[in-house]
Amino acid sequence: MLFRTTGKYDLVICDIDGCLSPESHAPINGPALAAIAEHNRQAIEDRDRPVVTLCSGRPIGFVECLCRLIHNTLIPCIGENGVWLWRPADNSFECDPAITDDHFDVIHEARKLLRLLYEAHGVIQQPGKSASVALYHPDTDYLRSTVSTIAEEFQKRDWPIRVSMTWLYINCDLQHVNKGTAIDRLLAETGIDPKRTAGIGDTMGDRFIADRVSWLGCPANAEEEIKKSASYVSPHQEVEAVLDILDQLSR
Ligand SMILES: [Mg+2]
Repeated sequence: MLFRTTGKYDLVICDIDGCLSPESHAPINGPALAAIAEHNRQAIEDRDRPVVTLCSGRPIGFVECLCRLIHNTLIPCIGENGVWLWRPADNSFECDPAITDDHFDVIHEARKLLRLLYEAHGVIQQPGKSASVALYHPDTDYLRSTVSTIAEEFQKRDWPIRVSMTWLYINCDLQHVNKGTAIDRLLAETGIDPKRTAGIGDTMGDRFIADRVSWLGCPANAEEEIKKSASYVSPHQEVEAVLDILDQLSR
């Protein structure tokens, strides 16, 4: 598949939490997603503007659902911080082939250790992840206080796991898998030139998007650190910012 548009960009690779939807459990802005769906319908039909696809740490089932809501029927989306691609064109899922049985075993061991250390404190392992662990606790300050201990415990055991904090979650991801490695897979199979891609992100996890695309937009609510990589920071929040950024890209 080779996807080209007559516009300046072929593809916008958009983070979900803090961009398309709130990272909290607040309702998702349906009318704004409908506007992105309209954008995508025109992009795919007329090939005159970039298609919006998704690149998220969320479980791939959540990403698939949003991908369908925004009517991206063509370009693969990315879930679980790069573990999975889902292809809307043929409903196929692909786990990164660089993840071996040994890696799955390490993640299984990490889950056991994290349950032992933190389950009694009310730390929940987010359901739906297969080759990574995401941790949640209603008291975000408590959750944040555990990050360095978790990283040390993994290091002691020589487990190849990267530990990072989003606004509300701790992500434990395999070191050799990230949003960027999945974007490489996506671009290779779609034949899209990285120079003709843009990205949208709000936290330092999105530096892996920033590294791959030629133009980055951030919502106003983004971390200051990622804004330094941005070509454009929208004055708007979350999905309103995404709509504004799409507008900027078509100028
Ligand atoms: Mg985010």
